[in-house]
Amino acid sequence: MDKVRAKKHLGQHFLNDENIAEKIASSLTLNNYKTILEIGPGMGVLTKYLLKKPVTTYVIEIDTESVSYLQANYLQLSNRIISEDFLKYDLNTIFNNEPFAIIGNFPYNISSQIIFKMLEMRDQVPEFCGMFQKEVAARVCEKEGSKTYGILSVLVQAFYDAEYLFTVSEQVFTPPPKVKSGVLRLTRKKDKKLPCDEKLFFRVVKTAFQQRRKTLRNSLKTFNLSDNLKEDTIFGQRPEQLSVSDFIALTQKIENDNV
Ligand code: SAH
Repeated sequence: MDKVRAKKHLGQHFLNDENIAEKIASSLTLNNYKTILEIGPGMGVLTKYLLKKPVTTYVIEIDTESVSYLQANYLQLSNRIISEDFLKYDLNTIFNNEPFAIIGNFPYNISSQIIFKMLEMRDQVPEFCGMFQKEVAARVCEKEGSKTYGILSVLVQAFYDAEYLFTVSEQVFTPPPKVKSGVLRLTRKKDKKLPCDEKLFFRVVKTAFQQRRKTLRNSLKTFNLSDNLKEDTIFGQRPEQLSVSDFIALTQKIENDNV
């Protein structure tokens, strides 16, 4: 690993602590899936422990140098190394609409995009575990009433139970990042569908938090709400006061407005 120079633009911070690698791998519950996908395996510190689990492991890595290293050193992975950009690759070329869990010590520079892509594939992803910058992991698990509660918290928790598992110090990476890291686990809820128009739900949540200091009456103006609906007390609130179920109820109200 010493010979490999970390590429900053790819968010490369290689984990150098075997105990933590094993602990992250063990955050997978292994319930309800037989296949897992590791995003950004790098030199395979986590992969090594994943390969001991009774599941089939695929890895997707953008950096060709890391891919060559994995091909040479992890023969058990054989043809399950995908040399592609996770954000651009159509995973169903491989997974054929079958379920798979996601795990990784993720590239922090694309954290939100990884979470949004996971959400698009939520019907196929029963579990999502791994490490982000601490603030991002915490924000995903945050509840209403907090300053850091936002789009990621609501959209993820609409479909997943979110647990913040543990914090990881910057010392265990080469090179060390400037921030602490946090490991989380997302477990998909039993009900895969929301009891409201899901596209509208995403739009309402995103629009409301774009102007998080305003009341919903002001931030949701573009939805052309009827005067009657705007009287509803929920519109006097700010987005960070609303729980996930409040956002679902709000979406239902907007859906039924003027029909
Ligand atoms: N899991 C390894 C590496 C973590 S660093 C470890 O813990 O040591 C993040 C890794 O993600 C790097 O290997 C980087 O090359 C890879 N990566 C960055 N952007 C990616 C993308 N869009 N798709 C797939 N892999 C990516």
